[in-house]
Amino acid sequence: MTIAQPDILPPSNLVRLGAAPADKEAAIREAAQLLIAAGCIDPQYADSMMRREDVAETYLGHGVAIPHGKVEDRGMVRRNGLSILQVPEGVEWNAGQTVHLVVAIAAESDAHIDTLRRLTNLLQDEEHLKKLFTTNDTSDIINALSEANAEPEADGAPAEDLDERFEWTVDYPSGLHARPASAWVAAARKASGSVQVRKGTAVADAKSLVSLLRLGLRQGDTIVISADGPDASSAIDRMQATVTSLSAQEKADAQAAKGPEPTAKGWTPPEEMPVIAGIGASPGLSIGPIHIYAPAEIAIADTPTPLNEGGNKLHEALTVTQTQLRVLADDTLRRLGEAEANIFRAQAELLHDTDLITLACQLMVEGHGLAWSWNEAIERTARDLESNDNEVLAARAADLRDVGRRVLARIDPSLENRDGDPLPAEPCILVAGDLSPSDTAGLDVERVLGLATVQGGPTSHTAILARTLGLPAMVGGSEALLDLENGTEVILDGQAGRLYPKPSASAIASARDWLAAQEEQHKREIAERSLPARTTDGHQVEIAANINRPDQIELALSQGGEGVGLMRTEFLFLERSSAPTEDEQYETYRAMLDGLEDRPLIVRALDIGGDKQVPHLNLPREANPFLGVRGSRLLLRRLDLLATQLRALYRAARDGESSGLSIMFPMITSVGEMQRLRAVADSIRDELDAPKVPLGAMVEVPAAAIGADILARYVDFFSIGTNDLTQYGLAIDRQHPELAAEADALHPCVLRLIRMTVEGAAKHGRWVGVCGGIAGEPFAASLLTGLGVNELSMTPRDIPAVKAALRETSLSALKALADKALACETAAEVHALDREEL
Ligand code: PEP
Ligand code: MG
Repeated sequence: MTIAQPDILPPSNLVRLGAAPADKEAAIREAAQLLIAAGCIDPQYADSMMRREDVAETYLGHGVAIPHGKVEDRGMVRRNGLSILQVPEGVEWNAGQTVHLVVAIAAESDAHIDTLRRLTNLLQDEEHLKKLFTTNDTSDIINALSEANAEPEADGAPAEDLDERFEWTVDYPSGLHARPASAWVAAARKASGSVQVRKGTAVADAKSLVSLLRLGLRQGDTIVISADGPDASSAIDRMQATVTSLSAQEKADAQAAKGPEPTAKGWTPPEEMPVIAGIGASPGLSIGPIHIYAPAEIAIADTPTPLNEGGNKLHEALTVTQTQLRVLADDTLRRLGEAEANIFRAQAELLHDTDLITLACQLMVEGHGLAWSWNEAIERTARDLESNDNEVLAARAADLRDVGRRVLARIDPSLENRDGDPLPAEPCILVAGDLSPSDTAGLDVERVLGLATVQGGPTSHTAILARTLGLPAMVGGSEALLDLENGTEVILDGQAGRLYPKPSASAIASARDWLAAQEEQHKREIAERSLPARTTDGHQVEIAANINRPDQIELALSQGGEGVGLMRTEFLFLERSSAPTEDEQYETYRAMLDGLEDRPLIVRALDIGGDKQVPHLNLPREANPFLGVRGSRLLLRRLDLLATQLRALYRAARDGESSGLSIMFPMITSVGEMQRLRAVADSIRDELDAPKVPLGAMVEVPAAAIGADILARYVDFFSIGTNDLTQYGLAIDRQHPELAAEADALHPCVLRLIRMTVEGAAKHGRWVGVCGGIAGEPFAASLLTGLGVNELSMTPRDIPAVKAALRETSLSALKALADKALACETAAEVHALDREEL
């Protein structure tokens, strides 16, 4: 094992054993004196060390403190050095903190970061540390600092496996990238002991995403996964199950990433043309001027932050960003799909990485500002990943920077880079070195015709998002892309992965002809989207869209949506630091109603709790948030939130022209809840002299479905939230990394709950909608229609296919299909009916 011995490690004359300083100042001055004597610092630097104590915390924890001077006094450092004062009896640092090792640091630049890292490692080994507090041998201390630096992956390290182990050959075609790695981490974290992954002599902590990614595992690598601790054997079983169960999905993703086989339908250039080659990432052809995307550099001032304040702020920024990413994942799941949502779940996992957070804290301890330290920690880790000579890891560096920027914007909102590089008014093809998933997910698809990047592979998150957004894209293009001038006219072929700069008039004409033919076909589809979803025997199902913002109405209607069946209002509360006021909410609801004219708009009252946490509401933490104060339970406890929202809604209903508003309440479990909610709504309506608005209940828990015949008396309609009904019906956390795939809404028992809801509603002449994810799947939508559901509400892009499926068949056939499904024993049998029937 080779151990780097940076020159900052103290020689023995800089270690003083058995010191007994009277107080903290005496300790700091004594340690400083050692550095002065060794010629490391000017004598005044001792004063600088004292000044730092006034503005920052230098106690590292576990009896160790690291006094050092202020950043602006670095000029007093003559050469890097470290002195150590051992205080066996201890000296009080701050109230309640006793220090036994004073590690005084003199560093011109970041030479002592390594020392800090070693110290942090040492802090994790308390036994060892305690011995150092009383040892009589200076070399114990010097060696300890050296050993704590030992990298497990150092050359030739005789890396050892833990007690229980299994060997596996990586068969993920894209290697171990962040999405499967985060599933490994989740499985490893359930173990009480350690879980490690070894490739040759390199060892990673399976509980740390960055550590795992650093291994740079590729397909064909043989690894050993091992665990220790009391539950080592079950930990290994779990790891094995997780690791191997992901293989099929990884292979399927890799296949999908290759994109469709080129077909005769693709465009063939009519002549030889100059070309910049890359990898086709998302099919389609676009013609237009390029815009080179170069986000404005953010200058981050290095303003020292007191450690406590910095730590708290960092914690808060990380927590808020994690919530934001969960919301983004949720939203992406609804808009785009599971794989796309996982991009942001994996990003959230990066924020749990202790190495990253430790590094940021160490930089703060050194005296740097919070924003600077965080950015530096992200950059160093990202560079480390990039240097791994593995394109998959390089792509993860982009994710890390992306997520890092989100945290930075939370630490200091002025560092948000939203308007860094505005797009030109004319639609353009965006050319960039790289694009982060957030950049791509947030693109205005009306103004961007296509994407071409230098970095990235077909499995990069940007490529996945481009495919889902339907934007032609090429990745992995040559650097020549960036040499093009802004505004250069190009043809981008996202299927072939080719960009043709300055095409001739005849090439443009040929490409335009090809596009016109495609457009013609697309128009036919659009025309059919607006036809009602009427079965061949004349039964019509209402088709609505799940959207949350007025600017999505146009898309919803253009896809054939006949109204809005679910507006999730949590999005007005999440992603901001305070609750929206009544007036702000009113404006949004008014804009929704006005935009929809008289079409239906079903607004769901705030559904907070479970996976949707809003930090600024300061709600107490719960052991089981999904079973706790969530949805309507919260609304009834926080009448301030409920009343504000209802007032805004009733005002919007009263003041506008539209009569389409309905309100529904999430997670209703009992008649009592509905009665109380209705009473609050009625009194607000009276007070505002507002019109009556239908009030509905979401059916999301089995109790509501089973008791639907009773509940129906108290509601005007039901809307079934199959995402939650499945979660609660099958008792599977909808976000559980191992189980979520089994949370199948087509499980026959979930279908039975839906049937009970429909039957209960019918007894009182109420209508039933479904607004959970399955409403947007053609086969499931057919089944739901057969079960007697009257309305289906889904993500806009799912509408045309659902409408087409319903128009193709008869209600009587769908009823027969539903009966068969209800008689099935398993979800798999229900799915098999898809192939049989449709
Ligand atoms: C559902 O549970 O199906 C639903 C539509 O609500 P959400 O997904 O917002 O919990
Ligand atoms: Mg729900």
